[in-house]
Amino acid sequence: MSALAKQDPVIFAAIEHELDRQRTMLELIASENFVSDAVLEAAGTVFTNKYAEGLPGKRYYGGCEFVDVAENLARERLLQLYGAGHANVQPHSGASANIAAYLAVSAPGDTLLGMSLAHGGHLTHGHPVSISGRLWKAVQYGVRPEDGRIDYEQVERLAKEHRPRLLVAGASAYPRIIDFARLGAIADEVGATLVVDMAHISGLVAAGVHPSPVPYAGVVTSTTHKTLRGPRGGIIMSRAEIGEKIDKSVFPGTQGGPLMHIIAAKAVCFGEALTPGFKTYAQRVVDNARVMGETLVAHGFDLVSGGTDNHLLLVDLRKRGMTGKLAEEALHRARITVNKNAVPDDPQKPWVTSGIRIGSAALTTRGMGRAEMALIGEWIAQVLEKPADEQLARTVEAGVREMTAGYPLFSWEPIARAAAGRAG
Ligand SMILES: *Cc1c(COP(=O)(O)O)cnc(C)c1O
Repeated sequence: MSALAKQDPVIFAAIEHELDRQRTMLELIASENFVSDAVLEAAGTVFTNKYAEGLPGKRYYGGCEFVDVAENLARERLLQLYGAGHANVQPHSGASANIAAYLAVSAPGDTLLGMSLAHGGHLTHGHPVSISGRLWKAVQYGVRPEDGRIDYEQVERLAKEHRPRLLVAGASAYPRIIDFARLGAIADEVGATLVVDMAHISGLVAAGVHPSPVPYAGVVTSTTHKTLRGPRGGIIMSRAEIGEKIDKSVFPGTQGGPLMHIIAAKAVCFGEALTPGFKTYAQRVVDNARVMGETLVAHGFDLVSGGTDNHLLLVDLRKRGMTGKLAEEALHRARITVNKNAVPDDPQKPWVTSGIRIGSAALTTRGMGRAEMALIGEWIAQVLEKPADEQLARTVEAGVREMTAGYPLFSWEPIARAAAGRAG
């Protein structure tokens, strides 16, 4: 019997149920993915026991010779992946990476021009409830109402008017290619540093299916757990000249000891992203999102911006008189997981919304392709047409169970196998 099952059966059961949920539901949350066996294995190791404040070769603790191997490899692979001048792999999360990046190249009280959450940006890009909007003087840009694309003219106008120290780009709910060259030119024109937070698209950038921000940005941040398909965490890359400032801003500026087990898992993830197979994966992610979008449009659904260039779709449900909350709940009953999401200038409250966000990264990792996307798109359309139809939900659920059974999540069973006594 596993140590965990014996010592803490409640936690053990929660993890087992979560594993079963991940296996048997269709995961379409655009910010989620499934790590490989190797990434999961690295994340669950004795490196969690180790304190390693500082950087490889310059630690405040003894005994760091083996964690140094992992962090050096993570940094080298990350630089190779994106061709940046400097890399820091210690940020605990995307939000932590952003705050450390801002503090490295600006000071509290400076002006930050970022994309508003309501138009697809992220809380950490200057929203008033986030420290980014409390410590910095935030000015926000958004998308054009007529086509849902970033309003670059508005960005330029606001940049000239407010002369921001930081121009922040990147999004959590934006389905189109972002023009980093244009944003870089605007930043240069007003003397701002362009900080690109590529959290959602970093896997697509690594594979070359989305243009890279690295040539245009002073600083690039990302999560590692979205399309990049690594453990939960963050990274910061920059030009070599400001590398030391970035490192100091992460530690001791905003964090303590790094999570060495997660850094080891990041190294494994970057190694995977450097393989030709990852390029194929990322291209399939984009192809799959497009097929899903085309299926929904064929059923009369509105997509913000009319479609997608990347891994996600934003479905605008206003014309259907349905809220995002209701849609999310109806799909959940049919074992399809999406999240409600505001559409630009959404009249509904943030916990209700008028839209849902759908992403293809996780199911593509499971091996699903165009045929599955088209069928899932049909199911979504059927459920949203009759959200209260329990019989329909049961029919779709049966289809989901059958489909997911055909695409195993892991080649081994990390929890169930450990519970040999129970699983037999
Ligand atoms: C997900 C996301 C983040 C935050 O990442 P966490 O790891 O949840 O802190 C930051 N910026 C963008 C654009 C994101 O999509």
